[in-house]
Amino acid sequence: MTTEIYLDGNATTAVLPAAIAAAADAMGQRYGNPSSSHGTGLKAKVLLDQTRACAARLLGVGDGRLMFNSGATEGIQTAVLSALVALRERRERGEAIGSLLVYGATEHKAVPESLAHWNRLLGLNLTLQKLPVDQDGAHDLALLRELAPRAALVCTMAANNETGIVTNLAAIEVLLAETGSAAYWLVDCVQALGKLDLDLASTRIDYAPFSGHKLYAPKGIGMLYVRAGAPFTPLIMGGGQEGGQRSGTENMAGIAALGAVLSALERGDTFRSHHQLASFRARLAESLRAALPGVVFNNPFDKSLPTTLNFSVPGLSSRELMDVFDAAQVRVSSGSACSAAKAAPSYVLDAMHAPLWRSAGAIRMSFGPLADEATINDACRRIERCGAALRASCLIPSERTAVPHDGLLQLGVEGACSWMVLDAASRSCIVIDPLPEMTTRIESYVRCQNYQVQAIVSTSLDTDRSMLISALGRHVDSHAATDAYGWPAAAHAIQLGTQTLLSVSDGAARHYLLGEAVDAALPPQAVRFVFSARPAVEALRPLTCAQTLLCPTRDEHNQFCVGMAAPAATAAPAALQLDSAALDAFLQAHPDAELVDVREPYEFAATITPGAAGRSARSVPLSRLAEHASSWLHAEQIPLVFFCRSGNRSLKAAQLLRRLGHGQAYSLGGGLALAPLAHAA
Ligand code: PLP
Repeated sequence: MTTEIYLDGNATTAVLPAAIAAAADAMGQRYGNPSSSHGTGLKAKVLLDQTRACAARLLGVGDGRLMFNSGATEGIQTAVLSALVALRERRERGEAIGSLLVYGATEHKAVPESLAHWNRLLGLNLTLQKLPVDQDGAHDLALLRELAPRAALVCTMAANNETGIVTNLAAIEVLLAETGSAAYWLVDCVQALGKLDLDLASTRIDYAPFSGHKLYAPKGIGMLYVRAGAPFTPLIMGGGQEGGQRSGTENMAGIAALGAVLSALERGDTFRSHHQLASFRARLAESLRAALPGVVFNNPFDKSLPTTLNFSVPGLSSRELMDVFDAAQVRVSSGSACSAAKAAPSYVLDAMHAPLWRSAGAIRMSFGPLADEATINDACRRIERCGAALRASCLIPSERTAVPHDGLLQLGVEGACSWMVLDAASRSCIVIDPLPEMTTRIESYVRCQNYQVQAIVSTSLDTDRSMLISALGRHVDSHAATDAYGWPAAAHAIQLGTQTLLSVSDGAARHYLLGEAVDAALPPQAVRFVFSARPAVEALRPLTCAQTLLCPTRDEHNQFCVGMAAPAATAAPAALQLDSAALDAFLQAHPDAELVDVREPYEFAATITPGAAGRSARSVPLSRLAEHASSWLHAEQIPLVFFCRSGNRSLKAAQLLRRLGHGQAYSLGGGLALAPLAHAA
């Protein structure tokens, strides 16, 4: 059975077995309420005190406070509330306070959001001031020196969650002292726990929040350190637990689990050394360099936690990289928030002045200090597999020529799309409506498959073809005479293998008809596809037939293609979904059903087939769906069960087929994540 390789430790970690055992013990044996004065309560109290004492030793808490809470987001709220309440009181007493709430540009969102929230609620009206970072993610200390005398609160995280970049806290401490700043200092230590040495009371840090789940404890348990003498206001009032600092009966299972992790950290016999972790990172980086040519690391390793890599690959989006890693069962995260159409750039990398392609295409690979040699070796092998899958799909340059593809290919970006008509036999193709964003993709596709581009045509006059023509070099005849739409001068039709492309003018718009010519003509019943910028084209009806599919060059709603006939009534998504539990029964009842994997070819190629034997599936990526939809509609109808990683793409495919009149198209709800299937290689 293949196992997943979890390389997303900065998001969360698995729970240490000793922590699970400790939590089970706290729930089963020592289930008491530590506030109860009877024996059962006292046993729980001992556990609570021991855990706090261990944490206090490890973090060097000195005379400061250390309270348990639900995690860092709560710790940050409490710290911000405490500092701002004190500032308001001082101002009300007529004392001068700073006017700025300074926070690093790469802080976790919990920091600026809490600052804005409590500043507003408390009516303080202080100014939130973002502190820029340089291209290595280091704070602008010259500016901080200028701001420090006017700062009321300074927030600088110990290590960044996206890049692992470690802040020079010592330099900030010196700077605050030298400028005589009276600012409170909040240092988010979430990513530092277990990876950096901390001796909090020896610093002037006022507040330091922690989250257990970033270091092998469960979610929902955290800690907040408050320096002795720093102002404190409880966020939660009630029964006076945690010495009145944080009311509510303590999360004893979480505290016991965190205690087990902290003891392991203190004993020093469980987690890897900095040196070992750095060597693991170097090995992963080496594999990434070999598998993904041109990979750029977005974090300087010598200034980062040894457990984080953040990288981008030219020509690949973070969505594509995430998908290929996920297919190989390597769990990583995109450095940026992805939407289906386009990845939003990472604000952390933007702040580091990374170019857009890097900040929108970033992947974070992170592991915890429990990582072991065998897992890293396995991860390196799977990275190699992902690289091979991407090369075979022409997404990254490949030395050998890929197996040529035939038929239609749709390349979309933000609702617009380019189409390619490919003919494997003659190794030639036609490009329709080249989008500037797709230039690199089309170019690498053409080069890698060694195609000759017969024509680059457009459906409207505002398409710029020159970028693609110059990128394609010898793969296109750049001197060929064409009209303003790129159509070869004086040509009636373009022949591509056995296919014929015809151009039809309609006012300022151009449409293209594609089909198999019959006696040098393209009768309506032979037209399989129409390419057009307009969704419904009355003028084309006499030239086409009911089975013709219209391939739009705008596709905002991910329709891929539409029929020339009126669409069939839309079925509710629920009616198209097969849940994973019902799949076996469905396949038994429909032995002729076809399973169709709509993930992209590189995901298909990178897939680690799970052990469970199942039905083999055919690969028809969404980018090739129009071509296959046409074949399915022409053939005798059999049930089609589409699946993908999570069920989104397969639902779109099933909806398309239903709209086109196929009565038996289904989507596997939840996708491969819920129902691992074997697939045909
Ligand atoms: N700060 C940093 C640096 C983090 O990485 C996280 C979690 O991603 C948080 C704060 C918030 O932690 P939690 O969601 O556990 O409250």
